[in-house]
Amino acid sequence: MSITVLVVEDEPAIQDLISFNLKKSGLTPICASNAEQATVMINNVLPDLVLLDWMLPNMSGLEFARQLRRNTRTQVIPIIMLTARIELEDKISGLEAGADDYITKPFSPRELTARIKAVLRRRIPEISDEVIEAGGLKIDPATHRILAYSDDSCSQYTEIKLGPTEFRLLHFLMAHQERVYTRTQLLDRIWGDHVFIEDRTVDVHIRRLRKVLEKVGKDDLVQTVRGTGYRFSSENVAHSEE
Ligand code: CA
Repeated sequence: MSITVLVVEDEPAIQDLISFNLKKSGLTPICASNAEQATVMINNVLPDLVLLDWMLPNMSGLEFARQLRRNTRTQVIPIIMLTARIELEDKISGLEAGADDYITKPFSPRELTARIKAVLRRRIPEISDEVIEAGGLKIDPATHRILAYSDDSCSQYTEIKLGPTEFRLLHFLMAHQERVYTRTQLLDRIWGDHVFIEDRTVDVHIRRLRKVLEKVGKDDLVQTVRGTGYRFSSENVAHSEE
């Protein structure tokens, strides 16, 4: 899965350096030299993360971060601020503007990618390739395999086959266990931004997912929360409201 990082930086040499290092670590950089250009890019495609220089011409990085946080479409995008300033006060105002982390120039390429990956793991767990195990299910995004265990010792298992959408849906819910998501949130996060499909589509895919899970006795892990949406829970099975 390709992870897009929008780099907003007005100095071409730094932009190139960052871009080179992101590509080297398997990320896809897109670059803008100012907030206005970045806005146009974001209107086209929502990036997975924004690397934002503090000192930009016209609108400052700080102001741009605030703008991203005010807009419902962009408010959840993780932001890492790049800054030459090291004063504590600046750091605080950056975090108040909604930045997830801070990198002070000059930085090492290794520090840059390590910080980006840490923020991504924390903010968007479903884009990580880590194996997730819960409720007797094991999902491996790298190999696209799902195993269902039939006993507690995890020695007996059945492999489950899901369609691509059901796979992403289950992976997303397992990566955010116990949290309830509305149909609209699931559409945004799984089907993607700028896609106009009806909320009912989510129900159709949830039904398909449950049907497959039912065969291995795991369908009650994907729960309906009446009036709200869906969640994956291996703890609240008794509270499923369907
Ligand atoms: Ca700058």
